[in-house]
Amino acid sequence: MRNVLVEHFRGYIFAIAATAAALWVRTLLDPVLQERLPFGVFYLSVIISAWLGGTHAAAVAMVLGTLAAAHFIIPPASSLWITEPADWVSLLIYAIVGCVTIVTFEKTRCDQRKAEQRSTENQALTETLKKSDLQKDEYLALLAHELRNPLAPIATSVDLMARCRDDGRRFDALRRAVQRQLSQLVRIVDDLLDVSRYLQGKMRLVRDPFDFREAIGAAVEMLQPQIDEREHDVRLLIPDEPIGVNGDRVRLVQVVSNLLSNSAKYTPRRGRICIDLRTENGFAILAVSDNGVGIAEGDRARIFEAFAQVDSSHTRDHGGLGLGLALVRQLCELHDGTVDAISRGPGKGSRFEVRLPLVELPTPSVRVVKSRELVDLASISVMIVDDNRDAAETLSMLLTFEGMKITVAYDGPMAIDLLRRQKPQFILLDIGLPGMDGYEVARRIRADQRQDGVKIIALTGWGGPEDRRRSKEAGFDDHVVKPVDPSSLVALLRDVQPQSA
Ligand code: ADP
Repeated sequence: MRNVLVEHFRGYIFAIAATAAALWVRTLLDPVLQERLPFGVFYLSVIISAWLGGTHAAAVAMVLGTLAAAHFIIPPASSLWITEPADWVSLLIYAIVGCVTIVTFEKTRCDQRKAEQRSTENQALTETLKKSDLQKDEYLALLAHELRNPLAPIATSVDLMARCRDDGRRFDALRRAVQRQLSQLVRIVDDLLDVSRYLQGKMRLVRDPFDFREAIGAAVEMLQPQIDEREHDVRLLIPDEPIGVNGDRVRLVQVVSNLLSNSAKYTPRRGRICIDLRTENGFAILAVSDNGVGIAEGDRARIFEAFAQVDSSHTRDHGGLGLGLALVRQLCELHDGTVDAISRGPGKGSRFEVRLPLVELPTPSVRVVKSRELVDLASISVMIVDDNRDAAETLSMLLTFEGMKITVAYDGPMAIDLLRRQKPQFILLDIGLPGMDGYEVARRIRADQRQDGVKIIALTGWGGPEDRRRSKEAGFDDHVVKPVDPSSLVALLRDVQPQSA
């Protein structure tokens, strides 16, 4: 308590001590100064008090200095009266200089406080930046790890394929392994792009009323290898009548497959997974439940955040980048729906429930589908333009196998030169070409009347809405994102071919 009081009055104690010291010095100087400069040394006491004790102490020192000078130095002695005009002038100068001193010290102190505050804020900011930098590094390490995972078996398989060319069965198993790992790689990249698209508000849905049961069927089929590999028992409780939702079919397959893939991943071998679809109060409700590792109450909300994982340690059992559930939630919200996680705790399984508004399905119209087999692939001619020679050559090989006539160009000028002598039906044109980019090549082809009717398809790694808009503007007919599934590409060429032939 005493210390607090001393602390509180320290400034005033400084002021009294400084004024007393100044008075003592002034008395010593009396024989020399006599009645001249009555306030001279008291300036020093004001400065010292302002410096050590602050504004209030300096003000007190100034008042005490005035009283001391009036009482002890300015005649008449032992009285506070000031009669001489010269002494009044000295007092005025003393008051002005004292006030300026006080204001200057106060301003300096204020600037110092602000600088200290800024420095504390900067320190906090630096800490936050350091933390997020560390998180970014950790995430990059995780990403590298997840990308390396499928790359290692691909590299080994390709090496082995060269050695067992004559062993058909083994060759086929290796090819299937490469295919599986590649789709894993594509999924990682797609998830990253999807999350970034959503965060930038660029995710667009192509919504149509369709039977939600189809999305579930497609997701189960897609994940069957993963389910079989972990020997899970999957039970489907799906109604016999259609369940109509207004949605983007591809995106809703992604929602169901992410939930199912998680159940398969976070449930120990030979676990039980149940997919249950029902309707309630105008909503389609899909529940994917498992008897796996479960979720702690504290993690239930967090797992839907992008990049969040309950276990992101090096020793974790499962791969993944913490994007799947974030995408599920984002896609459900874009479909005017919701997703929830329910679990009785660690080790007690989990249940993920998706709710989507129900819609009436239109009566199916009869469509005459022309058999694809009737289309003669040998009548299709294609030019491939890609500066990545391996990509161009392998695609050329694939389409040649299908019987098509292929020409390859490795840059824009080469493609334009070749087009002077031939007229393919399709041009599969990469956009990121050196020198002249794909947009420019497409524009030049469109300006050439000899190439009227040619279908230009962008085959590119750039798949955002802005890229699609630009390619349309440049004259492309279609926009396909790499890596393209070979059978889809062949199907695309087949589908468009009859009109262009
Ligand atoms: P990832 O699986 O790549 O880590 P997700 O976004 O799909 O990312 O899932 C986030 C986290 O939620 C997972 O790391 C896991 O801890 C938890 N999780 C998801 N699904 C399940 C499930 N069926 N059972 C238990 N935990 C789950």
